[in-house]
Amino acid sequence: MTDKVVKTDAQWREQLSPEQYRVTRQAGTERPFSGDLYYRNEDGDYHCVCCNALLFHSGTKFDAHCGWPSFWEEAVPGAIKRIEDYTHGMVRTEVRCAQCDAHLGHVFPDGPEPTGERYCINSVSMTFKPES
Ligand SMILES: [Zn+2]
Repeated sequence: MTDKVVKTDAQWREQLSPEQYRVTRQAGTERPFSGDLYYRNEDGDYHCVCCNALLFHSGTKFDAHCGWPSFWEEAVPGAIKRIEDYTHGMVRTEVRCAQCDAHLGHVFPDGPEPTGERYCINSVSMTFKPES
């Protein structure tokens, strides 16, 4: 589909803020209710902060009251890849940007219809582009 974006650690560090780097390249988690995009609800698109890939549309965003931006469907099939995550004594499904491997967050099977899924995404992993 799209070409992979591969950069060295040093290149990512240069491009990203320390917090963006920690979350996307080191699988960190931002503090709940700390991200700007949690409170956004205008129409527009959410892109990967690392490689600009389109990840989510505002129409699939919903308030899960968890403190992180939540979506029930990815914008483009295959834009996001899933990895089983066994850290912190839990079995979860980590989600990453398929194009550059940025850690985005996790997906849980307790979202609203029609998918029943809840993508719980770190705000700092994304940039928002309002609909023009
Ligand atoms: Zn990316």
